[in-house]
Amino acid sequence: MIMILMGPPGAGKGTQAKRLMDKYGYVQLSTGDMLRAEIAAGSDLGKKAEAIISAGNLVSDDIMVGMIAKRLDAPDASKGVILDGFPRTVPQAEALDRMLSDKGRKINIAIELKVEADELIKRILNRAKESGNARADDNEETLRKRLDVYKSQTAPILPYYKGKGLLTQVDGMADMDTVTNQIEAALN
Ligand code: AMP
Repeated sequence: MIMILMGPPGAGKGTQAKRLMDKYGYVQLSTGDMLRAEIAAGSDLGKKAEAIISAGNLVSDDIMVGMIAKRLDAPDASKGVILDGFPRTVPQAEALDRMLSDKGRKINIAIELKVEADELIKRILNRAKESGNARADDNEETLRKRLDVYKSQTAPILPYYKGKGLLTQVDGMADMDTVTNQIEAALN
């Protein structure tokens, strides 16, 4: 089972991925978490990625595709996988298709969590306030940039998956439990 969770920053991808992971034993592959781990470890990649992430831009497709390819080969990814934050560009989506077809696997479903921009800004600024250790990119200026990047570079993936009959849209403005129920209904 390979599921892609899509949606702008603050849409609730991470929250929903964790719920599905706990309930079904799927693994959440969050490229944002992987990059933050590289930064925390002080690796060369982390050093390169830090400035890009803080500015709200995207890390290069080559790096991200390589990172996911390696992670998909790990034993825990052989069953159910929830991709959270990847793919983020059409070239990443195309590379994912090639990679999966080489491995004899395929995407089962892509879910878009739809949330209005005002609500996203409110949620992220709240997340920053409530976290003792706020993400460097969870401030209003960077968030606006991330939303622009989502619109221009990531949203074009939606028609890509729609054309393949894989896209389901979910109302991400609803409360967390309702969103989980909608995702589960789409999975069944
Ligand atoms: P996230 O935690 O998913 O919001 O990701 C945080 C940041 O990491 C993004 O704003 C990007 O700078 C970078 N990032 C995460 N995933 C990707 C990806 N698939 N492609 C490019 N950049 C990414």
